[in-house]
Amino acid sequence: MQMITFVPTFVPRCDGESDRLKLEHLFSFINSRYFDDRIQATVCWEIPLGSVTISSGTPGKALQPRSSLWHRFAKATHLLQAGQRKQAQPLLQECADAGHPDSELLMSHLLKQQGDSRWEQYATAYNRHLDTTRAVPAACYYPQHNRIALHPHLCQRRAPQFVLKYLLFHECCHQLVESDERNPHPPAFMEWERRAPQRDKAIAWLEREGFPTLQLPAQ
Ligand SMILES: [Zn+2]
Repeated sequence: MQMITFVPTFVPRCDGESDRLKLEHLFSFINSRYFDDRIQATVCWEIPLGSVTISSGTPGKALQPRSSLWHRFAKATHLLQAGQRKQAQPLLQECADAGHPDSELLMSHLLKQQGDSRWEQYATAYNRHLDTTRAVPAACYYPQHNRIALHPHLCQRRAPQFVLKYLLFHECCHQLVESDERNPHPPAFMEWERRAPQRDKAIAWLEREGFPTLQLPAQ
């Protein structure tokens, strides 16, 4: 007789007592180590509500000051202001064809005014720089309930402690620094946030896992 052994597939769970305690323990550690126990919040494994906007567009060509394209664009805008569109157009086209967003926009306007159907191709190229997508964040802070939620996927993937600590640190900063939905990470917030322990390493891990991350502003 053939024996059939049923092997249950291992389904990692994150609503278990030990995972909850581990998260609370990490939160207490972060709170006392970096915030003098000032943060009043509860923590849980839960899919964060809402989503964040992330840029998914093609990067535009930036014009380096005093480069040849920079000079061409400066000359073209000067000519446009003087009403000399015909002379401006070849200069703009060169910058637009190199992927400079402002030049693409101006080219699409110029061509449209002339009834030239190529305007659409420049408008499309310009719009591609502005593409965004929505993504669920790895963690979230709910100010109404003083609650920090971490995505259960992090638990299922056995995210390293430095990742969880970074996320908890980030969400603690949200309680310290008020912000609104349109600008959730203003400069005052980033002043705190950039001090998070092992920030770069945590960001790299989150990126590999496909979570949206917060880049530091250029200094
Ligand atoms: Zn945030």
